[in-house]
Amino acid sequence: MSTSTSRRGSGPALPRGDGRAAARQSTLREHNLAVVLQRIVAAHAAGSPLSRAAIAGEVGLARATVSDLVDRLIQARLVTELEPLTASRAGRPAVPLVPAARSVVGLGLSVGIDHLSALVLDLTGLTVSERVVEVDLRGCDPERTFARLADLAAETVRAVTLEGMHVAGACVALPGLVSRESAMLRYAPNLDWRDIAVDEALAGHPGLATLRVAAANDADLSARTEVEERRRRDGRPAESQNFLFAYGAVGIGSAVVLGGRVFEGMHGWSGEIGHVVVDPEGRPCHCGARGCLEPYAGRDAMVAAAGLPPTTTTTGLADAAAVPGPAADAVAEAARALGQAAATVVNVVDVDEVVLGGAYATLHDRLAPGVLAELERRAVIARWAEVRVSRALGGPSSPARGAALTVLDDVIADPSAWLGAAT
Ligand SMILES: [Zn+2]
Repeated sequence: MSTSTSRRGSGPALPRGDGRAAARQSTLREHNLAVVLQRIVAAHAAGSPLSRAAIAGEVGLARATVSDLVDRLIQARLVTELEPLTASRAGRPAVPLVPAARSVVGLGLSVGIDHLSALVLDLTGLTVSERVVEVDLRGCDPERTFARLADLAAETVRAVTLEGMHVAGACVALPGLVSRESAMLRYAPNLDWRDIAVDEALAGHPGLATLRVAAANDADLSARTEVEERRRRDGRPAESQNFLFAYGAVGIGSAVVLGGRVFEGMHGWSGEIGHVVVDPEGRPCHCGARGCLEPYAGRDAMVAAAGLPPTTTTTGLADAAAVPGPAADAVAEAARALGQAAATVVNVVDVDEVVLGGAYATLHDRLAPGVLAELERRAVIARWAEVRVSRALGGPSSPARGAALTVLDDVIADPSAWLGAAT
């Protein structure tokens, strides 16, 4: 994920000891801890929890080693034992292991044009808490907005901490270019915000002083949610998921998902499909160029082309476009432009599915036929393989949920950092 993290809290401890052998031993144990936790989480998501012996068989470690690692994960409140299963033959009954519920949790925050939200997710995938504040952030001062977000985050952290949960960190979903290394929002065009240190903006709140804060682009995080939703609802392993995720909002974001991973680019700035050219001499775009996708298929552009009031909701636009008229024409033109841009991406990266998320999920029935027609016409692979257009499974919480998922991804990738932290 294109999360950018700045650690103020406890990071992974450096190996101590008398030399390189001890360091190697420690690094190996940290690696094995992560491998075991990843297996437990994946097996739980697939609906078939594993025992210590089953994990040992799968990952190729001695049963005693796995047992010791599992004990550490239980002690760190990352893993829980279920009731033992009745033994099918002589021997000890198997004890299924699952990620711990409502224990170590991730905080996902989201800043959208029309909302601020805070969502807490636990290692089992359960949403423990979700708070959404509806606001109109157009023309809003970023400092005041981040102060409100910090209040919302601090209230949420306080509430779940009182219930005995440990917040492993926070990630903020933002509608713009976010620098991965420094948790810096470089530019949010539709809010007209530039160069905001997200970490510092939240750190000033007394309730958040020790929280690790990362930041990432909302379309990338929504794509992360989509991978998880497809894994949970349809049983599709993450590794087999490949698609272009087109995320409609006021602007347009996108993410290319390959093997279940969101392709980030060098700085985490990939996926700017809104500025792919669909007509070199076409409408001016706020980026300074002409004929980008956004002045044709951005939500506000569609509403304006339909002759509807600027306050029209996406549902209102979808309803208006359901009958012949200017709204249907505007959405059809947007679908054509979106299909052209999507075909360009498909020709470059070789994926066979385009997933419509955000406002595009609401408009799916109106957009999908036009997008598919362009893909079939322009994507070279369409001659040999079926190309598909589908509606995203994740709903409006996708950016915040994806943000919380990336916090938990970090915990699962390096559980040793949380040994001793969650007591
Ligand atoms: Zn542009």
